[in-house]
Amino acid sequence: MSQEALIVVDMQRDFMPGGALPVPEGDKIIPKVNECIKKFQKRGALIVATRDWHPENHISFKERGGPWPKHCVQNTPGAEFVVEIPENAVVISKATEPDKEAYSGFEGTELDEILRKNGVERVYVCGVATEYCVKATAMDALKLGYETYVIVDAIKGIDPEGEKRALEELQKAGAKLIECENL
Ligand SMILES: [Zn+2]
Repeated sequence: MSQEALIVVDMQRDFMPGGALPVPEGDKIIPKVNECIKKFQKRGALIVATRDWHPENHISFKERGGPWPKHCVQNTPGAEFVVEIPENAVVISKATEPDKEAYSGFEGTELDEILRKNGVERVYVCGVATEYCVKATAMDALKLGYETYVIVDAIKGIDPEGEKRALEELQKAGAKLIECENL
């Protein structure tokens, strides 16, 4: 039973510079995220990778009146991971139905159940984008009673102000901030 899990949020090609919905300098954290994955693997932690996994006609896309350009469509290169996801990692696909949006890795998925089955009590969150899916995932983890850490040098936000606000909100809600080297 692993008591801790690393949750890698949405490290996918479309969220990187050159992708359909890029997080500025999102690629800069790739080495750090890979380092975190290696560290947690060595510790025997559960590694979870969430991904946006949208159908072609997803409700969040502009052509359906949503806020985003088409991104992370199932089985396309844009939806591929850009970090080294270990073979034994748990991959959580979210927002997979046409009419449902999900920012959090817990929303409409079996993530909570999987963590509990594995005896996980503490989660560490990294990935993109800080203000959206990282924040939503960490907030849900807190609500569900997990001790929650955000790895501050392995996340990237859309803009520095938004990222700062998101981290403040997370801290207020009980999340702890940590750097990769202190893991
Ligand atoms: Zn999406």
